[in-house]
Amino acid sequence: MEHNERKPEWLRIKIQTNNKVREVEELLDTLNLNTVCREARCPNRCECYSKKTATFMIMGSICTRGCTFCNVRGGKPELLNREEPVNIAMAVERLGLKYVVVTSVTRDDLDDGGADHFGRVVEEIRRTTPDVRVEILISDLRGSKVAIERIAHAAPEVLNHNIETVPRLYSTVRPDADYRRSLEVIRSIKEMNPKIKTKSGIMLGLGETQEEVLEVFKDLREHGCDLLTVGQYLRPSREHTPMERYISPEEFSWYRERALEMGFQGVASGPLVRSSYNAWELYSSKD
Ligand code: SF4
Ligand code: SF4
Repeated sequence: MEHNERKPEWLRIKIQTNNKVREVEELLDTLNLNTVCREARCPNRCECYSKKTATFMIMGSICTRGCTFCNVRGGKPELLNREEPVNIAMAVERLGLKYVVVTSVTRDDLDDGGADHFGRVVEEIRRTTPDVRVEILISDLRGSKVAIERIAHAAPEVLNHNIETVPRLYSTVRPDADYRRSLEVIRSIKEMNPKIKTKSGIMLGLGETQEEVLEVFKDLREHGCDLLTVGQYLRPSREHTPMERYISPEEFSWYRERALEMGFQGVASGPLVRSSYNAWELYSSKD
């Protein structure tokens, strides 16, 4: 399907900005912080900022991997900013956020994949604003048990690691990742610290079949995954992996029902759903 093909009605949304968005983004500039919300010009900014939630992007903006669906730049990553955990904690406090998602590019260049930096961000937010709930969205940390232990020790409320697609498509879509290794990250975190809610997400529209998607849901449940997001893949440019089809809102609802039947505690499934969309509501889903 061509990149510029007309989008279906349910995906045509108007990007709104308001004073809240401007206020938040001015503060981010002052503290030299990145958010996915702004980098991706996310259409949900008004809604999320008003609900006092945002997604910070740490450890720079250059990734050591090259997923073919992703718009993040590849290349030699920046040096870590040691002040970043303190600055994020400061921004969370000043903005009065109640739920924070922290994610990063993949940093295979660092011995621990950035696990300690992630841990410090969680700990600084806790120290400054103990009532804020923290969700972190991590890479697979190359499956390192030591790195995963550091994350389990920091004890975010939610640990998210996206499975992204069905295993058959990994070699073309996520060539540097491994489906089984990603499942093991989720299982390990749950075993090391059962209080952490585990979460994952999948994009649809890449050519996967319904049977394959349901198989992924089953694997995630068998590896202790509690929360799930299911969204539409949208090709960022002609250079990226093609989109095969748009999934209708009805089909997204169907997937949500199947996932809930399988025992997920909370499921967000819809064309505009992204990993952090309604993260607070999903976290608050009944145990
Ligand atoms: Fe930010 Fe996620 Fe909300 Fe978009 S959906 S504005 S990325 S928190
Ligand atoms: Fe994008 Fe994450 Fe893949 Fe890096 S690892 S290219 S940030 S999806």
